[in-house]
Amino acid sequence: MEDDARFIANLKLDFDPDALRNKYNQERDRRIRVDGNAQYVEVSGKFRHFTDDPYVESGFTRAPLTDEVDVVVIGGGFGGLLAGARFREAGIKDVRIIESGGDFGGTWYWNRYPGAQCDIESYCYLPLVEELGYMPKEKYSFAPEIYEHSQRIAKHYQLYDNACFQTRVTELRWDGDAARWIVSTDRGDAMRARFVVMATGPLNRPKLPAIAGIEDFEGHTFHTSRWDYSYTGGNHSGGLTKLSDKRVAVIGTGATAIQCVPFVGEYARQLYVFQRTPSSVDLRGNKPTDPAWAKTLKPGWQRARRENFNNIFAGVPVEEDLVSDGWTDIFRNLGVGIIGNAEKKTQKVAPQSPSQMALMAEVVDFQKMNGIRSRVDQTVTDPATAEALKPWYRQFCKRPTFNDEYLPTFNRPNVKLIDTSATQGVERITRTGIVANGVEYPVDCIIFATGFEVGTAYTRRAGFEVVGIGGETLTDHWAKGLQTFHGFSSHGFPNCFILGPSQNGFSVNLTAVLDDQSQHIGYIIKEVMTRGFRYSQPSKEAEKEWVAEIKRLAVMTTDFLSNCTPGYYNNEGHLQAEAGLIAGAYAPGINAFNALMAKWREKGDLEGLELS
Ligand code: NDP
Repeated sequence: MEDDARFIANLKLDFDPDALRNKYNQERDRRIRVDGNAQYVEVSGKFRHFTDDPYVESGFTRAPLTDEVDVVVIGGGFGGLLAGARFREAGIKDVRIIESGGDFGGTWYWNRYPGAQCDIESYCYLPLVEELGYMPKEKYSFAPEIYEHSQRIAKHYQLYDNACFQTRVTELRWDGDAARWIVSTDRGDAMRARFVVMATGPLNRPKLPAIAGIEDFEGHTFHTSRWDYSYTGGNHSGGLTKLSDKRVAVIGTGATAIQCVPFVGEYARQLYVFQRTPSSVDLRGNKPTDPAWAKTLKPGWQRARRENFNNIFAGVPVEEDLVSDGWTDIFRNLGVGIIGNAEKKTQKVAPQSPSQMALMAEVVDFQKMNGIRSRVDQTVTDPATAEALKPWYRQFCKRPTFNDEYLPTFNRPNVKLIDTSATQGVERITRTGIVANGVEYPVDCIIFATGFEVGTAYTRRAGFEVVGIGGETLTDHWAKGLQTFHGFSSHGFPNCFILGPSQNGFSVNLTAVLDDQSQHIGYIIKEVMTRGFRYSQPSKEAEKEWVAEIKRLAVMTTDFLSNCTPGYYNNEGHLQAEAGLIAGAYAPGINAFNALMAKWREKGDLEGLELS
């Protein structure tokens, strides 16, 4: 302890780490709600239409399907697309993708709000760019380019051929005699499949806060994932001219709000932004792709780049930080041991113990967040507003955001920030407005930038139940938390695979996760088929051992997240090892997980799987 105290003192920091730590704890404690995830309600009743598809013509019909395919993939976002693409490459031809929207694209099909953009560098995020010979236009792609790319993938791999759009799966039921899944849908289908792959996305179901009076509001409402351009006018690039006589409220200040608020602020007569926890808003610094640089790239560059990005997050030393942006900042400084001191000079530090390493990580984080907070001071002119916009938590407690227009928006005379942290969120909604801190703000429209369900049951988010061997449901099997083997499948649910964040390697670059998972699942399906088995499922023991391994390794992640301000990363501050988006992941990181899976495949005996 004494050594640690000396270690900190020798750094001669220009801030007091103890005082900051206390401040973070106070800010976290006053935000933790006893109702946790239950503070959110399902989108239903008056808000039922929030999950409708505004992008298709009504009246679509088709005859129900009762045919059989080898593989049904549920979801046509990047998960489903990558599964389709990688399965085709593996020689699995008979694949059908079922998608509730009117086209491929998933997140990028639904989220068309003004300013929508991906925060992960496009060269890492847009999948299969080498395979398709496509080079993203900018370092950070906007939504229309990403949406277009999803269709490019579907065309290239002929995934349109057998796809079912505007179709919601309502149930998956295992027929043990035939060893087939019966896939029921809201179109009356009862198709059969040897294998099913669930690629329904981790953030697909809009959620609403259960604010008192929410049903009473008589003005206009919509959720950001179904932006109502018929009400606002304009499109993804702006021009929301129909708001010029409107008083608008945006509830929420997560990654979505950070991107759309500047547009609403530019056009609305009056904008109130209702904030509970401020996001960290770092530099965007977008730039067009340099064609000369693109020409220097050697085959395999995309995988190398995304592995470099993932290594930095896992603390694995790299020669060069190829992406070098706000995501990798902290880790870059940690890797080379750089800390700034009170004289604003950088100093190289070599921690001598794990506890000093942890302290150094905390100090680098404090410095990063001090920078984020001074950016607010430098940008926002009203001191009280600036103070309220400062985030007091470690950078990866919440999803960091990157934007150069959000903070200046609060200098507009027609834009007002309403801090609702004292009452743990908006107090009340009335027929005509929103109440916060005892004041009613009359508005014509409420835009819910309140995010998506994360901590609720998987089957509720997916929208269908999975009924496995002996009638056991997946909801029951996972009632006490995820129970999987390698995060891909569960005992009692043969030939059924899960794509997406689970008990496996996680990266903030989600398409990398989905790509690697698709290749692994494709391998298992192919092996089961070519070795002449009817199905595979994890043994009970293998599943139990894997869950124990995930929990054993999760200690550091769990510690970190339990000290965080509430949010969907830590199950709204009520953390169990397997709840929250990243709490149940394989802690050593995605590259380490992929290496483990590569070894498993090399062994070739499908260890841990029961084969029938
Ligand atoms: P989030 O879940 O991140 O944000 C929801 C917001 O609503 C939070 O600010 C939350 O406050 C607020 N909120 C909830 N309930 C209340 C209440 N009762 N009163 C006031 N405020 C409330 O959703 P987003 O749609 O912003 O983002 C979801 C995820 O989607 C991101 O985290 C990211 O992973 C992804 N995304 C990525 C983008 C990109 O790459 N650029 C862009 C947009 C989204 P609190 O924080 O206090 O809970």
